[in-house]
Amino acid sequence: MSTGLVSVAYVVASICFILSLGGLSHQESARRGNLYGVAGIIIAVGATLASVDGGVTAIVIAVLLGAGIGIPIANKVEMTQMPQLVALLHSFVGLAAVLVGFSGYIEPLIATAGAEHTIKLVEVFVGIFIGAVTFTGSLVACGKLDGRIDSKALTLPGRHLMNLVAIIACVFLGAWFLGTDSMALGIISLILMTVIASVLGIHLIMAIGGADMPVVVSMLNSYSGWAAASIGFMLGNDLLIVVGALVGSSGAILSYIMCKAMNRSFISVILGGFGQTTSSSSAADSDQSVYESSADDVCEELRNADSVIIVPGYGMAVAQAQNGVSEMTKILRERGVNVRFGIHPVAGRLPGHMNVLLAEAHVPYDIVLEMDEINADFPETDVVLVIGANDTVNPAAAEDPGSPIAGMPVLEVWKARQVVVLKRGMATGYSGVENPLFFKDNTRMLFGDAKESIDKLVGGLRG
Ligand code: NDP
Repeated sequence: MSTGLVSVAYVVASICFILSLGGLSHQESARRGNLYGVAGIIIAVGATLASVDGGVTAIVIAVLLGAGIGIPIANKVEMTQMPQLVALLHSFVGLAAVLVGFSGYIEPLIATAGAEHTIKLVEVFVGIFIGAVTFTGSLVACGKLDGRIDSKALTLPGRHLMNLVAIIACVFLGAWFLGTDSMALGIISLILMTVIASVLGIHLIMAIGGADMPVVVSMLNSYSGWAAASIGFMLGNDLLIVVGALVGSSGAILSYIMCKAMNRSFISVILGGFGQTTSSSSAADSDQSVYESSADDVCEELRNADSVIIVPGYGMAVAQAQNGVSEMTKILRERGVNVRFGIHPVAGRLPGHMNVLLAEAHVPYDIVLEMDEINADFPETDVVLVIGANDTVNPAAAEDPGSPIAGMPVLEVWKARQVVVLKRGMATGYSGVENPLFFKDNTRMLFGDAKESIDKLVGGLRG
């Protein structure tokens, strides 16, 4: 394929990716967005294969090997395990940037000299740095999201100073790398920088925890984009630069949106140290009592209600209760009840997690509202059903300045006339913070797996 045709194919693929990102920003257009993304990647891979002079067999074998490992994993993974899978995939992009950087230095594809050579070396150094931070940081995030590493923030004394020293050391190694003509010394400085950047990646992500993990997920998404862009620079591949920049900037925007949703400063979260569990004055005393309810009583409440707000959380996703919830919504709406959903921006374990589940279960889009759109309506609501949500409805965030989640906007469900919480027991949510909502006078607990409880409610409402 001629260079001109390849460039045209890359431009078309880039346009597909931009349309894909645009489509994914709205529920109604998300499927179309996915299709654009698939089309873009097919064009990109096809054009790349058609443009290489040799090594097609090696590429095809690598793709088949990757697909052989990836397809079974993708088929097996539960929706609730997606965040850790995404974090793991980000780590692969980081590792690729490190490997491409080393190979690009040892055996450059294009011979360069003078200023062009210096620029190439800077690309290699920066690319490996971003790649190493992304690689280890994403592995730690994967461990935290999977529960293999404690989700609490690790706040070592003098952690900001340690990060600063690591960055300064990398700058010095960079100067050494650019100044040496010896390949051996260049490789030594690259290896030393890779080790420091890898430790920095671990430390940065270990220092973020609890309810701030959503920001980490989107931040690493952004890092992986910049790592891909750096690979593009090293390989002289325009498409990778464009796609990497798209992923990098959209991830950064998402991180900013997440920070706003959590009422956190973007810089503070990046520097780490939020989300650690400290003793909280409003942490529920273990001897406080809760009011337990039964499916029959909740059905009675729902029958007598004019307005109901359903607040889904991670537990609804784990229980796979969304289809039952959709069925219950249908029954209540047929009875003339005003049913709406309140979605917190960080509910579940992925940005948009709840919206995807409800859309899959055919809940109409127009009754699914964002936190800001519905929060003022709770005082006029008869019944709120909290289904497997915890941190996102915790009044301590709004009422207790000493709480680790203080300042995080939450769905103010406790202001409704009656709140019913569906969960299995009294466990805390992801942030590990006690929830005083469960002990309020207007809260009733319906204990049990969310799917089983919803099935009982559907049966009761039909009967
Ligand atoms: P939480 O994680 O706060 O709480 C979920 C609750 O669901 C638990 O308290 C658990 O209680 C209950 N539960 C679990 N399984 C079931 C089941 N089968 N049936 C019924 N209940 C069940 O969920 P939220 O959605 O309110 O909050 C999300 C949290 O995750 C936030 O802290 C957010 O910061 C964090 N997070 C979000 C990410 C994102 O991008 N959205 C990414 C990473 C973290 P019990 O065991 O007693 O049943």
